Amino acid sequence: MAPVIYPTTNLTATEQLVLDRGKGIYVYDTDGNEYIEGLAGLWCTSLGYDNAEVIGAITDQLNRLPFTHCFGGKTHEPVMKLAEKLKAMVPVEDAYFFFGNSGSDANDTHYKMLRYYFNAIGKPEKRKIITRERGYHGVTVAAGSMTSLPANLAHFDAPVEALHILRADAPHYYSGRKGNETEAQFVDRILDNLEQQILAEGADTIAAMIVEPITGASGVIVPPEGYYEKLQALLRKHGILVWADEVICGFGRTGADFGCTTMGIKPDLMTFAKQLSSAYFPISASVIPGWMYEKMVAPSAAVGMFGHGYTYSGHPVACAAALKTLEIYERDKTFDHAAEVGAYMQAQLRAIFTDHPLVGEVRGKGLIAAIELVSNKTTGATIEKGAGGAAVQRLAQQNGLLLRALAGNSVALCPPLIITREEVDEMLRRLKNAVDGAYAELK
Ligand code: PLP
Repeated sequence: MAPVIYPTTNLTATEQLVLDRGKGIYVYDTDGNEYIEGLAGLWCTSLGYDNAEVIGAITDQLNRLPFTHCFGGKTHEPVMKLAEKLKAMVPVEDAYFFFGNSGSDANDTHYKMLRYYFNAIGKPEKRKIITRERGYHGVTVAAGSMTSLPANLAHFDAPVEALHILRADAPHYYSGRKGNETEAQFVDRILDNLEQQILAEGADTIAAMIVEPITGASGVIVPPEGYYEKLQALLRKHGILVWADEVICGFGRTGADFGCTTMGIKPDLMTFAKQLSSAYFPISASVIPGWMYEKMVAPSAAVGMFGHGYTYSGHPVACAAALKTLEIYERDKTFDHAAEVGAYMQAQLRAIFTDHPLVGEVRGKGLIAAIELVSNKTTGATIEKGAGGAAVQRLAQQNGLLLRALAGNSVALCPPLIITREEVDEMLRRLKNAVDGAYAELK
């Protein structure tokens, strides 16, 4: 095998799928076999695999100016235009944008900017971050400590204790409810737990809470009705900022511009990556409100700079790719299309899988969904050692569908946003074959 340390991979694994090219929602391996990319790569290739306009914008920019940095007084048109364009889109007050390369680094940037801001306003003790059990926020040092998935923490001595990360309950009613608890009672209980935790720590020591509006890597958890309304009221009451990690949900995935819109969240801070450029070039953004930015100006003057920046912050080619992607979303009404085809996908998924003996729960919104695989439909008992998810993933691939088994025995669907109803039908036909096959193997 090539001397590559493969990311998020069992390093003993010897089987590899060698992908070669893509077209629309399809990718092809080096033997010419076709697969539907049921997870849009890693929740990111919203415009599919052959968008000539984005490729054109990238090559034009490469020919004009392949790189310039944005440090110490340098800038360029694409980065300025992108910030203006995003400012008109986001629900953050008078927004400012710090650009990076990945969702992880965007979350680390926010971690640092929150410290910068609270130090600037004379509240250096307000530094803890609340995350949630089962949350995924990336793998860099701060983001990796805010992630709660065991496989991302084990052997890395994560979470880093000095970062002061607090963990709240995951808002998953199906797996987290107690006895006959209703959804409303479940929400009240987990938010009461959170309030007790805030009081015990001291609200003055907590800067923000980070949430994925709908989670991705933990199995597409859609919190119950009323959860975010009550959560936000609680955080506002205690002066804790709301930080929406929109790395997966952002730009149409949930059938609206942002997951915040779909779930009724009014964020103070946001983070973006993935669909910001349809993954044609790496770019991320950390979004803060103007009132935060204003307080960061004086300390930067005191030391001569805002001392945070990546070589590729505001990379001109990445900005050109993102600008073209946003232009296409707007012109082609991609988010409306995602809402329409997403509603169809959700309905079909439920029609096909709700009664399936291997499936405990079907969940999702827009074009993001998951099915929870169980060994006992009545009790919801999980299948040991992730065997259900692994079997479905393997059999799906044999049926020409790429998807990912996620923590807790679920498999996720998150196809490119350009998918049509007919392609949804074909994707679900292949998924059904895989789930039936897994059931036959496991029972
Ligand atoms: N935040 C969320 C919600 C994610 O799903 C991911 C990646 O899947 C990240 C952050 C990290 O992004 P990246 O892999 O680009 O570092």
